[in-house]
Amino acid sequence: MDSRILNEVRELVKPHSPQYCYQCAKCTSACTATKVIPEYKPHLIVALTRLGSVKGLMESGIIWACTECWKCSEYCPQDVAPVEVVIALKNLSIAMGYKPPEDLKVMAKNVVELGYVSPPIEVLSKEFEMYGREALSLPELVKPYVSEGTPTNLKKLLGGVYE
Ligand code: SF4
Ligand code: SF4
Repeated sequence: MDSRILNEVRELVKPHSPQYCYQCAKCTSACTATKVIPEYKPHLIVALTRLGSVKGLMESGIIWACTECWKCSEYCPQDVAPVEVVIALKNLSIAMGYKPPEDLKVMAKNVVELGYVSPPIEVLSKEFEMYGREALSLPELVKPYVSEGTPTNLKKLLGGVYE
């Protein structure tokens, strides 16, 4: 058991508390990620966090399956907010040097370099034809204004996620 991690998570999720969880699993029954990845179970993540046993969660990277849709928080009768616990674990895992998913790194790079999470993409019609913004009569996407120091500050803020 790592009580230091438990204390750090407690600080990060205040005023919510994983200690109030009574393992009803309502969070898991509502979870968007569980529907796609059955081994991802927010009630188990809360239980392991309460025990301070989170190394495996960070090593496996399962915490990154959370879409941060907040449904678990809405369903929780104890105001535990499992999503807050998962976000705290994600932040701690980066701070502890665990690698984030490659897709997250790509998104961070896009934010710094383009001002968007992703560049404009084409959409697929029912007839399986691809359409870009021009074909859909949409204006060209304007790059958001960024002040001179913003990319540097963003890189610092993104820490280990930006390379
Ligand atoms: S819904 Fe709340 S109380 Fe129930 S298992 Fe999930 S976190 Fe615990
Ligand atoms: S926020 Fe994460 S843990 Fe909560 S329901 Fe959505 S995907 Fe599941």
